[in-house]
Amino acid sequence: MKPIRNSPNPLPTLAFGAHPDDIEFGFGGVVAAETRAKRQVHFVVCSSGESGTNGRPKQRMAEAKKAAGLLGATIEFIKLASDAHLEVCVSHTIRLAEILRRIRPEVVVAPSPVENQHPDHACLGKLVRDAARLARFGGLAELRGQPPHAIKQLFFYAVTAEAEPANVTPLLIDISAPEIVAAWTAAMKAHASQVLTRNYVDFQLTRARLFGARAGVEYAIALFPNEPLVFDSLAKAGRGARHF
Ligand SMILES: [Zn+2]
Repeated sequence: MKPIRNSPNPLPTLAFGAHPDDIEFGFGGVVAAETRAKRQVHFVVCSSGESGTNGRPKQRMAEAKKAAGLLGATIEFIKLASDAHLEVCVSHTIRLAEILRRIRPEVVVAPSPVENQHPDHACLGKLVRDAARLARFGGLAELRGQPPHAIKQLFFYAVTAEAEPANVTPLLIDISAPEIVAAWTAAMKAHASQVLTRNYVDFQLTRARLFGARAGVEYAIALFPNEPLVFDSLAKAGRGARHF
């Protein structure tokens, strides 16, 4: 697929998914909230989901394009390895670092590297984390075609509860606005082939309600920072989820 952009201006957010539905099920509500706030989000999907139980690649890619459109995001597909064969290796890391240099995002969101989930998700989380490092190394021969780029933040999303990093305090994003929940629900339902496998829509909405209950709002989605976040002042640090 042709590069969507090659601009010196950073893109707000770049999201990676191992399979055509991961981003939407993992944190699609946050994407809807960002695009409604006029912040661009671009998806990079690293397989066509050809090893899934339901849905063939053409259908799954069409579902993903529809879902991205419903969330107001743009999307491209790349091929690293076939579905369920992804491995952590330098060539994949460099390929992803090239994408980071081309798109130049401020915020990057990837699946969590926790092991107890689809192995492609954990591998992609590690690959993106490594790629974010390589993207800023000035002397790497394979990346000389584009200037180095340092992202500002790397967040992980969890497609299942088991994939939530146990030792990381999550950032909870309030997505309770009805139009955001509606857009997210529609985007998840666009993956009609995957909803045949399990009621993923209800599953993710229930998780979001639970995180919302912790935060004192109706729906929230958890993102897990790769490192401590830095704020200019306490006033910009949001609020704690617990109502003391
Ligand atoms: Zn997946």
